[in-house]
Amino acid sequence: MYIMKRSGERVIFDGEKIANAIRKANKEEGILSDKLTEEQIAAIVNGIERDARNASRDLSVEEIQDKVENSLMATGKFNVARLYITYRYKHNELRKMSNIDQKISGIVERDNEEVKQENSNKNPTVLSVQRDYMAGEWSRYYTNRYLLSDDIVAAHKDGLIHFHDADYFAQHMHNCCLVNLGDMLDNGTCISGTHIDTPRSFNTACTVASQIVAQVASSQYGGQTITMSHLARYVDISRQKISQRLKAEFAEAGVDVDEEKLKKIVEDEVRREVESGCQTIQYQLITLQSTNGQAPFVTVFMYLHEVPEGQIRDDLALIIEVMLKQRILGVKDNRGFYITPAFPKLIYVLQDDNIEEGSKYFYLTKLAAECTAKRMVPDYISEKMALAMKGDCYPCMGCRSFLTPDRFTDAQKGNLGNAKNYVEGVHKYYGRFNQGVVTINLVDAACSSGGDEAKFWEIMKDRLNLCHRALRLRHERLLGTPSDVAPILWQDGALARLKPGEVIDRLLYDGYSTISLGYAGLAECVFYMKGVSHTSSAGDAFGLKVMQLLNDSCAQWKAEENIDYSVYGTPLESTTYKFAKALQKRFGKIPHVTDKNYITNSYHIHVTEEIDAFAKLSKEAEFQRLSPGGAISYVEVPNMQDNIPAVLAIMKHIYDTILYAELNTKSDLCDVCGYSGEIRVVKDSTGKLVWECPNCGNREQARMHVARRTCGYIGTQFWNQGRTAEIADRVLHIGLGEIQETGSVNPNASH
Ligand SMILES: [Zn+2]
Repeated sequence: MYIMKRSGERVIFDGEKIANAIRKANKEEGILSDKLTEEQIAAIVNGIERDARNASRDLSVEEIQDKVENSLMATGKFNVARLYITYRYKHNELRKMSNIDQKISGIVERDNEEVKQENSNKNPTVLSVQRDYMAGEWSRYYTNRYLLSDDIVAAHKDGLIHFHDADYFAQHMHNCCLVNLGDMLDNGTCISGTHIDTPRSFNTACTVASQIVAQVASSQYGGQTITMSHLARYVDISRQKISQRLKAEFAEAGVDVDEEKLKKIVEDEVRREVESGCQTIQYQLITLQSTNGQAPFVTVFMYLHEVPEGQIRDDLALIIEVMLKQRILGVKDNRGFYITPAFPKLIYVLQDDNIEEGSKYFYLTKLAAECTAKRMVPDYISEKMALAMKGDCYPCMGCRSFLTPDRFTDAQKGNLGNAKNYVEGVHKYYGRFNQGVVTINLVDAACSSGGDEAKFWEIMKDRLNLCHRALRLRHERLLGTPSDVAPILWQDGALARLKPGEVIDRLLYDGYSTISLGYAGLAECVFYMKGVSHTSSAGDAFGLKVMQLLNDSCAQWKAEENIDYSVYGTPLESTTYKFAKALQKRFGKIPHVTDKNYITNSYHIHVTEEIDAFAKLSKEAEFQRLSPGGAISYVEVPNMQDNIPAVLAIMKHIYDTILYAELNTKSDLCDVCGYSGEIRVVKDSTGKLVWECPNCGNREQARMHVARRTCGYIGTQFWNQGRTAEIADRVLHIGLGEIQETGSVNPNASH
């Protein structure tokens, strides 16, 4: 006779083990008359053995322990029963603990595959990352054990939903933000207990900005965005200073310089200072390591209309020009090769006076196009589409999560964060943040319905309810948080200027911050339910209906709770495998639905579907509209460094059709032969996917630089086989043949 262990292993039934467990509890009972006799213990064991023999299957350890509990109760020895239950509970804890021990050992000894795939921006071999992961494992354990309800933990484990960042949830931490750099620089701030006055030069402003970014990164787990507009006024402060100094120097030397000449000398020096300041930002931000073991996930926003016309806008244009030129150059690696850095992410806003050839700032847009071709950034926000959809044009918080349009200013709620740069009646975006994310797996909802539409909507309602409860937990975790947990955020201006001891609660309502309902796998969901892609007319309608339901749910929760729930196209990263694996386990391999090692992000069109860049962006724009909490579309293009007009043609299309998009270009570098272009994935003799230089055949990863965007992040550390397969699966949205000699793209080319 056998019993089934938790691991699924069958072991021979051993009555003596049961007897010993009861004896342990019995021994702790102090009152002799309340103890069980050896005969009573034997009777209990015999009874359980009989039950086990009569059962038509192997009983589980849990079932046997339940029977022991019931038998003890039946004998009336309630105290011994209680001691047994405690004993059982402690054992359970110990068992879970050893699971944690295993995980931690896996992190420290670097033999845990899951950890290696966790985040393509973190290198798990370095000590600070290991330490962050160890803390993360404990936080995850504590979160699952004490902070989340069992059904949420189970749904997360089974891949029905994803409760993001459980490794940070134990602490009272939020997700991502737009840093109010302007307030901190203009009105002073405090860094590590030291007061920082407003900078007296552009260079110093850039240094302070970098320090602020590092501090913010250590106080939250998601990304952050700063805008170059907040630095622009410091260019003129430097200019005045330089001008005064030079005048004095020339006067002292007795040199007579005319105004025109002096101006030129001053402007040359101003430019040098802007170059030095931008370089500080670029190098500081990639070389800094936050306490969570990675370079801060920071996005730099470049939007000319954010500052008024005149000197300040000219200065902002200069900063943008310098930033782009430095990025095109790249950064040197440890062998002196110029490579593509992953950070900072750059966002460039396309607007009426920079998109058309001949417009005032077209030269910047052209630089941006060159930069995209060479370094995959910047990404593009269309001012036209932003104004049409949101009423304002503002950046996303780090990677893609978007704030809701400011409603607290319209409702005259006033200066909720006590920012010193708040202007009554003017919409505010910098200083706002996101509370956190929970993602619904649309593919699972579809497969669970078996294709029955009525059932699908019912399941969706159920799952959304689960997501809502999980999001409530995120919100409640932040309630009551004192500003003292992160002075840089809550007291010194990055997000607010609250008093010590004051709680952040009022920043969680009235739309000051958002909270995200993420979704993933619309492509597979629609394919399962309708048998067609969501790019077809039948699939499209169903896909939009799903998206509308997500929006309606958020609207309802928002109306009831005054919290800005918003629909968010989750960047899945390693969760894409977790979902894919969970789906295969639950439903097997369904062609086009669960047969890959990944599922498709957000509303994206499947990577294997042939569609041209222009059609893809237009089609995805319909869905991006229904993803107001954030989403980014991309097109996969070949090496386009020699075809900037084609890049510009796509950018123009972005400006006209979609709020936020990027181009996945390819400009890899082979150290062996110096080839610059696309390094491709090939199969080696054992079937393993490897990267190979098309020029010299080099396959040594240490001697090549490959940068690819996965889920919206640029990764440069190479990828596991699953992700490499996805990268190899990607079809180009512009074929090499379509890029004509004239340098334009034929938008009507079909595949
Ligand atoms: Zn080569």
